[in-house]
Amino acid sequence: MKKVAVLTSGGDAPGMNAALRAVVRTSIYHGMEVMGVRRGYSGLLNCDFVPLDISSVADIIQRGGTILHTARCDEFFVPEGRALAFTHLREAGVEGLIVIGGDGTFRGALELEKIGMNVIGIPGTIDNDIPCTERTIGFDTAVNTVVDAINKIRDTATSHERAFVIEVMGRRSGFIALAAGLAGGAESIIIPEKPFDIHEIVATLKRGQERGKQHNIIIVAEGVSGAYEISKKILDISRLDTRVIVLGHIQRGGSPSAGDRILASKMGSAAVQLLLKGFRKRMVGIVGDEIKDFDLEWALSQSKEINMEDYILSGILAM
Ligand code: ADP
Repeated sequence: MKKVAVLTSGGDAPGMNAALRAVVRTSIYHGMEVMGVRRGYSGLLNCDFVPLDISSVADIIQRGGTILHTARCDEFFVPEGRALAFTHLREAGVEGLIVIGGDGTFRGALELEKIGMNVIGIPGTIDNDIPCTERTIGFDTAVNTVVDAINKIRDTATSHERAFVIEVMGRRSGFIALAAGLAGGAESIIIPEKPFDIHEIVATLKRGQERGKQHNIIIVAEGVSGAYEISKKILDISRLDTRVIVLGHIQRGGSPSAGDRILASKMGSAAVQLLLKGFRKRMVGIVGDEIKDFDLEWALSQSKEINMEDYILSGILAM
């Protein structure tokens, strides 16, 4: 293989740049040319290509976001759009494409493989909602960002003896909410994977108040129903007033944690090695601290479960 292309797509995540750096430098190390595709799949349709050399990825390992930019691309959902993308890649002499993104990005890559392109997926999303990998690039940084926010909110919560409902990202999953809630010592964690009883949340709040707790942090994953709705329900049932904070896009930004940089470096390098070995449609993942690879189609048919023991533990520790 002489030339590979790389793109970042879907929601951005801290560590995408570190993965890109690893892809570019590993490819060059093995004597291949690398072409960057800007703005995800849109860049394939518009030939928004940029040659990447060793120095083009200098000084980016510590930077959040993605220097290639990312986008969502509706044309890629239709066969004609994908056929055009494939033609553009072939005309540019590209033999393998590495995509860094979430499950939507992986589904797009799979469609491209069906019409003849070798593809490898690197899981880059703060949501951690990709099967076959214990962690995705960006998750650790996002969790740390949320924990940092919880620490700050807790200061003011304690000063005013108030309860806060904090909404965090995660799309349809509760990975960020659970990890950040456990690390931040939240009193209650509400996630889509576990039906919740608002009366139990209120009971926890009241128990805390009765034993003189000066703060109460309720973390709610965006996939549940929204922090304002939870706050209103609490008010309706108990007359207890809570403040609402929706953390929003700060969770996507920031310099990647050391953990995400290392993960991204290993995954980026592994993705290139897979192309060199002649694989056509794989994704890389981390399982028990080891980088593994899986058939992309099979991986996308799997589901990823939340760790219920962690959920139970968070409840016990928040008593
Ligand atoms: P993420 O990769 O973060 O999950 P999206 O779900 O928005 O983000 O997907 C990113 C892009 O991948 C979409 O805008 C689209 O261009 C492409 N894509 C997603 N799903 C498919 C699909 N089923 N078929 C073809 N392309 C898809």
